[in-house]
This record gives sequence, structure tokens and C-alpha cells, in this order.
Amino acid sequence: MIIDFHTHAFVDALAEQAIKKLSAVSGFHAYGNGTHAALSQHMEENGIDLAVVLNIAVKPHQAVRVNTAAMEQDGQITNNPAYRKFIQFGSLHPLTPNLEEEAKRIKAAGMKGVKIHPDYQGYYLNDPIWYPIFELCAALDLPVITHAGFDPISPDVIHATPAHTGHVLKNFPHLTFIVAHMGGIGCFDETAETLGGRYENLYFDTAFIRGNASQDQLLNLIRRHGSDRIVFGSDYPWDGCGNEVKLIQALPLPEEEKEKILGGNAKRLLNL
Ligand SMILES: [Zn+2]
Repeated sequence: MIIDFHTHAFVDALAEQAIKKLSAVSGFHAYGNGTHAALSQHMEENGIDLAVVLNIAVKPHQAVRVNTAAMEQDGQITNNPAYRKFIQFGSLHPLTPNLEEEAKRIKAAGMKGVKIHPDYQGYYLNDPIWYPIFELCAALDLPVITHAGFDPISPDVIHATPAHTGHVLKNFPHLTFIVAHMGGIGCFDETAETLGGRYENLYFDTAFIRGNASQDQLLNLIRRHGSDRIVFGSDYPWDGCGNEVKLIQALPLPEEEKEKILGGNAKRLLNL
């Protein structure tokens, strides 16, 4: 079973505009038109069984709308077999009005986690402004996944560094924390050095590492942190899922470790 822990899809009405805008900022080519239908078809073509869809509330007041839209996508599960493949994550902005209520609403809707994005949301990851989110999510047993490292939206500033990640884990030891892009594009060696194997509740996803991390960097981090706490991700539509799967399959690791990375660990994290 292959679970892609890091994908993006938009509601139909916003997909075209979102892809256009994000492509323009990043210069990246998008695979497909950004809709759930396109993701579903792409998963079929690339042997992906299940995808975590990460949503982001860029502005404080957007959280309720973004989460409601994601919950409605989940509601499609009953009507449309294609939707059984998606697990929507909610999003919280540090300044979300009624933050506690919204976190509880995410939990009550059966969502499996919360995405934050220090670059798009505009705060360094070690800023205490995030603390209420970390506290609430730890108490509600909601894993938090964060973007980390380079992001084209703010190319000169790294809003989430390995040191920041360490700061979060030290202050919130009960939080299940997933750091995308193997600790951050451009931060692989520092991540392995300073975070590898240090924190029980820390996971890394492998999203968008193709062309960014060398095989040696990838292996070094997996060995240091342990293959039990690495989850496969693609960052679709910014790379094809199959391209990123091939990178994992090509690693000189025992088959059972690759299986854990490609799906087993995600299954455990998502309580499936
Ligand atoms: Zn992403």
C-alpha cells in the first residue's frame, strides 16, 4: 500500500486560479489542473492508494472557510468512490478567531491532522504565536504538519529551520510533529545532524526532494532518524507522485523499510 502524505488539491471553483498563481510564484510546472479529480486520476496512474490532502489557511479569517470546504470534500466520500482515496487535513492560522473552537471542530469532523505554513502564514516557526496551536493539537491528539526550509514565496528568508523544529519539540514533547521536505529544502544535512533520532514524536515527509536532496543526504537522514518515522510524500501537483516513489524504491534499504516509508508509517500515524 502506498500512501502519499503530502499532496494539494483545491475545490473546483478555485483550482484554476490557485494553480496559475502558485505556478507563477514558484516557476514550477503543475501536474494536472489542481482539482481532486485530477489528483484521483494521477494516483490511479501512479499506483497511489491514499493521499493526504494538505490545505492552508493563508489569512486568519480563512481557516473556517478552508476547513469547511475540506470537510465537504470528505463528505463526498459517501457519494463518490474516487473520494475514498483522500484524507483531508485541516489548517489553522495562529490568529484564527476562536482558535480553540476551530481546532475542536477539526477534531470532531474526524480530520487526522492540521497543516501550518510558516512562510505563507508569515511567522517564524519558533515564534510563540504558534504555541496555542501546538498546545491545542497536542491535547486533541491532532498531528501537525509544517512546511520547512526554502519556499519560493519568500526565497530570501527561511521561516522554519531545523533549530526552530528542535525548539518546538523541546517545548511540546507530546505534539506529533511532521516536518515536510525531509526537514526543509536546503537544510538536509543540518536536519540529520541536529534532529536525527532525537525526538520520538518527530516525523519527516519526503515531499519534493527529487532534484533537491542527493541519495546520500536522503539515506543519511533516514538512517539517523530511523525508517519508522519517515513518511513518503510527493507535494503533487508540484511533482508527479510516481517520480518521487521511484526515489524511495531506488534507495539501498531493505524492502521492509521502504514499505514502511511508502505506507506503513503513514497508516500508523493516521490510525488506519
Ligand atoms: Zn506542499
